[in-house]
Amino acid sequence: MRVIRHVAELQQLADRERSLGRSIGLVPTMGALHAGHLSLVEQARRRTDRVWLSIFVNPSQFDDPKDMDAYPSTFEADLRACRAAGVDVVFAPGADEMYDPDSQTWVDVDEITLPLCGAARPGHFRGVITIVTKLLLAAKPHVAVFGEKDFQQLAVIRRMVRDLGFDVEIVAGPIVREADGLALSSRNVNLDAEARRQALVLCQALDAAERAVAAGETRSKALLQLVRQEIGKAPRAEIEYAELRDPESLEVAPPELARATLLALAVFIRPPGAAAGTTVRLIDNRVLHPQP
Ligand code: AMP
Repeated sequence: MRVIRHVAELQQLADRERSLGRSIGLVPTMGALHAGHLSLVEQARRRTDRVWLSIFVNPSQFDDPKDMDAYPSTFEADLRACRAAGVDVVFAPGADEMYDPDSQTWVDVDEITLPLCGAARPGHFRGVITIVTKLLLAAKPHVAVFGEKDFQQLAVIRRMVRDLGFDVEIVAGPIVREADGLALSSRNVNLDAEARRQALVLCQALDAAERAVAAGETRSKALLQLVRQEIGKAPRAEIEYAELRDPESLEVAPPELARATLLALAVFIRPPGAAAGTTVRLIDNRVLHPQP
């Protein structure tokens, strides 16, 4: 397994692999790898001859520097996990390699970035889309794999690839969960035992909504009320958003659901009372399928 730090070296390798007729699958990550990331490696492996994984904690997508400082880093363990998973190349550039201080160019996607995670975090998706563009230009992959865990990110990337005519296939990997339902996330290490327990309300709320839809509920208002009620059961959980949206355009769902609809959640798990500690922001989602 090669570890590459520089864009030019990666581009040269991409050209070589392509000239030899080999296909490249890229899995972009911010490191602190877990089984969710490794499931994306598997998705790439099934489709391409070479699997490349990037590790880059992208400063331009964090609106709060404290959030970036609290982001976990486990580089040596990540390399071991990649080796064990059969990754061929780990691309781990420094911040200077990806961002020239003199750079004036950003990639921005319009309406689809405005709701959900974009509403509370201005500039977040500009950072995400700019770095994904740079990674696609650096690795020249045939396939790039992203998780449905970050559903809006996936929708925005698909939109950008379509709008700019990128010659890459975007593949989505399903959300990988712990046995009790908690979606795997690099941020879960920042949850203490009690916060970890309360964090289960996210998937419990999704389960409750799914059960209600299976039982015939189609009213948006009733479903969102149910979700808020479920999350309200955890005293340390505070909703940033809980919304029903079209899975492709991310437009607000109609009052009566008639087709597949995204239920997207972002919840803060706060330290108890006024205690100092890390507030952890978790996201989760599910596509609901109302009965015809
Ligand atoms: P991150 O390192 O958190 O930026 O995530 C890198 C990629 O892994 C993104 O495409 C995420 O959507 C994906 N990912 C993160 N958590 C999970 C999970 N639990 N299941 C599947 N994919 C995930």
